[in-house]
Formats: sequence, C-alpha cells, structure tokens
Amino acid sequence: MAIFQFDLALPAVPVEGEAALYPVRRVFCVGRNYAGHAREMGSDPSREPPFYFTKPADALVPGGGDITYPPGTNNLHHEVELVVALAKPVFKVSPEEAAGAVFGHAVGFDMTRRDLQFAARDQGRPWCLGKAFEHSAPISSLKRGTKPLTEGTITLSVNGQTRQSGNLNDMIWSVPEVISHLSHYYHLGPGDLIYTGTPEGVGPVVVGDRLLGRIDGVGELAVTIV
Ligand code: MN
Repeated sequence: MAIFQFDLALPAVPVEGEAALYPVRRVFCVGRNYAGHAREMGSDPSREPPFYFTKPADALVPGGGDITYPPGTNNLHHEVELVVALAKPVFKVSPEEAAGAVFGHAVGFDMTRRDLQFAARDQGRPWCLGKAFEHSAPISSLKRGTKPLTEGTITLSVNGQTRQSGNLNDMIWSVPEVISHLSHYYHLGPGDLIYTGTPEGVGPVVVGDRLLGRIDGVGELAVTIV
C-alpha cells in the first residue's frame, strides 16, 4: 500500500565510528533514579518501583548543537542522563536477560519545562507539556557496547561551571533493572531508547548558555540554547 510522501526526516542517532545511523522508534525516560535528585525534587528516594514518561522520537537532537528556548516556559532546566539503546527484542525478562539486549549508550539531556512539569505534577496531570516538546532530547552519538554501564562519572557544566556531578553507580535502578522492569509493560526492542534519570544539581538555563555533558566511557554532548 502506498503512503503519502511528506517531507519527514525519520529520527536516527549517529553511531560512533560507523556510517549507519541507529533508527529510533520510542524514547522512554525514567523519573527520579538518583537519590540526590529525588530529594531536590521534594521526594523520598526510597526504592519504590521506577516510573516513566515518554518523549516523541522527533524530540531528539542527534549530536547536539543549537536548540531553541521552547515556548510557554520561564524555567527551562537541564538534566544530564545516561541513555541506553536496545538491540534485541525483550519482553518480561529478568535483569540478567535484559543485560544482553543492549546496543550501546549515549549522553542525553532530558530538557524540562520545570514550571509546567511542577504545575502538572501538583494537579495530578500528565507531564507532556513539561517533558515532551520539540528539541527536548539532545543526544550524543551512540557508543556501541553490549555491556550495560553501571559505573563512571556523569557531569554537566553550563558555561564552564559544573552544575551536575554524579556517578552511574548512584542510580537507584541499574540499567539492566530498568530494562527488565519496563519490559513487563512493553515489548521492547531495537529502536527503543531509555533515558535513565539524572543526578542532583538540575537548574535553569537561558538563551546563550552552553551546556556540556560528559559520561566516562561514553562521550560528550554539547548544546547551546538559542
Ligand atoms: Mn530526567
């Protein structure tokens, strides 16, 4: 059957050292997966089950670069996160089985309209306006590696000043545990990205700010707010 030929660029992420791009189907994000960030958001960082929100795949900004300050907010925040990309179908798997489904990792920013997210949260409404908007998901090239990352420093600076600094081993739920848990609700597989949560130190950015995220063993992501 024919489909309409609109001028659409399908979302895809570069893979370090390779010509082929990783095509993206879905973007899942974990909320409050580091104790320090849970506390700064006013929550108890007990080991309650992980929770999720999603972003549209076309919110991705592969390779970073300039992103526009979004409409409707006066409080755009940065959140630096480890992103894991899946290579294999998984459904209702254990953490051990989930660990075998990893394609690679990237550095991602879960950009957040914090004022809109908090307004929604406080009224028990969905987070879409606060989280799932255009340019809200910058992402570095994917670094291939089938071993889930469970430690290494994760940092973000704004205009050269460190704002966030943590370690992947501070995650409340590890990469294999997140994939396993999420696989009980979705048939996960190739094309699925998971943003795995941010360490403490989130804060506002303004037009002109230059954000640099780094994760040991993964790479860097540079973004300028325009
Ligand atoms: Mn986040």
